[in-house]
This record gives sequence, C-alpha cells and structure tokens, in this order.
Amino acid sequence: MTLAIGVDVGGTKVAAGVVDDEGRILAKLKRSTPAASPARTEQAIADVVNELLAEVPPDQITAIGLGAAGFVDSARSTMLFAPNLAWRDEPLKQRVEERLGREVVVENDANASAWAEARFGAARGYRDVMLVAVGTGIGASIIIGGELYRGRWGMAGEPGHVRVVPDGRLCGCGNRGCWEQYSSGNALVAEAREFARRTPEGAMRLLQLGGGRPEGISGPEITQAATEGDPAAIRCFQTVGGWLGQGLADLAAILDPACFVIGGGVSEAGDLLLDPARAAFERALTGRGYRPYAEIKVAQLGQDAGIVGAADLARHTTTTEPTIPDPAAASHTTAPSSPSSGPPGPGEFIRSTSRANPVTNAATAQNTANPDSSQCAAVATTR
Ligand SMILES: [Zn+2]
Repeated sequence: MTLAIGVDVGGTKVAAGVVDDEGRILAKLKRSTPAASPARTEQAIADVVNELLAEVPPDQITAIGLGAAGFVDSARSTMLFAPNLAWRDEPLKQRVEERLGREVVVENDANASAWAEARFGAARGYRDVMLVAVGTGIGASIIIGGELYRGRWGMAGEPGHVRVVPDGRLCGCGNRGCWEQYSSGNALVAEAREFARRTPEGAMRLLQLGGGRPEGISGPEITQAATEGDPAAIRCFQTVGGWLGQGLADLAAILDPACFVIGGGVSEAGDLLLDPARAAFERALTGRGYRPYAEIKVAQLGQDAGIVGAADLARHTTTTEPTIPDPAAASHTTAPSSPSSGPPGPGEFIRSTSRANPVTNAATAQNTANPDSSQCAAVATTR
C-alpha cells in the first residue's frame, strides 16, 4: 500500500488528507484559507501537509498533490488566475515546494474531483467521463481515453458559458444566453422566486420556507420543498433539469462520453434533478434510438473528491502520466514496463514511450520538438 497526501485548496478552506491507493482517506484536516495573500495561502498549504506528515512515517508518503480552485497552466505549475483567491500568474508549485522541501503536483480542483469520481466514485470503470458540477454556475472536467483533457492552455471544460439561448439572460461573463443561466443553482433560485412572485398561491410552501418573501427562497428551501413533494418546487427542478439534459446532449454530440457525473450543490437533490435531465437528454440526443445512451449519475464522493483526486493524480504523476486503466484491455494486453519509471503499483499503467512529463522531466519537455507527436503513445498494462 502506498500513501499520498491530497490538498483541496478553495477560496474559503484548505482541506487535506492522507489517501491510500484505494482512495480511502486515513487522516484529514481543514483550515480556513487566508485567500487575500498568496504567500499566506501557500504557507497554509505547507502547514496542513506538514501536520499530516507528522502523523505518518514520512517515507510512506510517496506523493503530494494540490487541487486548486483556479486556472492552472498547461505545465501544471502556475496558477494563471483564481476567481476566489489572490493568485495571478502565481508559481504555486515552486512556492509550495520551497516551503515543504518536497515535490508537489498541481491540478485544477475540478479536474481532481473528476479524477476521483472516475477512479473510485460514480464513474468507476469508465474511461470517457465528463464531470459536470452544477453549483452557483456550471463547471466541468473531461476525461478522454482514461486521461484528463486540459486543452492546449489548461482552459478546457467551461461549458457553462456555451450560448444556449440567443439574446437570452445576461451572464456574469458578459455574454447573453449562457447555459449556466438556465441550469445551475442560480437558475433554480431565479426560477422559484419568479414563480412565487407570479403565482404566490401556488408557491405557498416555498414562500413559507423563505420567510414569506420570494427573495427569501434559496437552494436548500427549494430542495426541501421538492423532497416533501411540493409541486411548485418539483416544477423548478424539472425546468432546470430539462436544461441540464439538453446541455448534456450537446456535450455528447462533441465528446460522446460513456458517463456524465453530476456534482455540485444542486446535485444533492439527486433524482429530482437527474430524472428530468435524463428525459431531456434522451429527447435531445443526436442519433437517439440508434446509439447507446451515456449514463447520467450523481457524484458519490462529495466534498472529499478534491482531496482524493489530488492525492491519486500526484501518486500517478510522479511515475507516469496518469491514466485510468482500460478494463477491456487489462485482460489481454501486456507489455514490459519502462525500467526508468520505478515499480508500478497495482493496476497502474506505463506508457511505452518517453513522453515528456512536466513534473519529473521538464528538461525533456523543453527539448521535445513536437510535443503533440508524443500523444500517440501506446498504453499497456503491467498487471
Ligand atoms: Zn456566461
């Protein structure tokens, strides 16, 4: 068994845990984030890691991963921008490594969560997965062929700002008609308040929970009312779930994943959201009736996903580019492991080429004339 530390760095809290190779958290702690100061945030990260290192024999910890809320550059070392933290072009990997005296692996927090769900959670067993986080807005992470897809500059996975209604509702991004204006926590609340204003006699339970005013209605009240069977609240979930399913069908038209994992605060409503989403997805999917339908599942790992994913990505990244095993290939494909990559863990896959690894092989990365050509690496199991 190998252990790794994962740190989930958000705008309000830094949560860290010791994670084993089955995705179980053995020890965990949490601090508030001194978000206004990059240096103090980095010190808080180093502090939680050091505290955890003191609890286990340090040589048992093989890797340390950070899942950070913000845009991570394609080399996975610099935080380009973080909406809720003071990071602007911050060399996070270097700064934390200086404080710890150990290597760390940096990843976007949503990517870390998606990785955890695909390895140990709702999408276990799938290699083509999209995690769609329905919270205040919509975020997403993409796993294709068992690898995280980050885009050329690390910016992939922002479907919340795909325009679904021409000249529609104004979005915080400055455009109109973005998907997250119709399918998100904000959209759910807007829907319920609008209904309560227009038809107060039909929204009595919602208004009661909201203190008598439409403005008092927020997400948890809508979920509670819908869970109790309140028709108005259920209708709000049907509307937002319907938009969700249509958007998933658009994403399937581009990426054709096997499984969508729906996370974020709104997903806590479970099938109240997912049933209308599945129905709309099946109505809108291109080629419906003549193709398999992707599964639409609710995320399983909750708040721990960021910790588990950051730890597991770091564990794999220090030896090879992280790849989710292909269950179909595992039974019949074998290949020798790379002698330079160290002993592989259970179920771990080794690339048969010397693909540039931004963490352990930066010099090679700079010397690679055509980085894209290395994408054609074959994958084989060592099991
Ligand atoms: Zn937008």
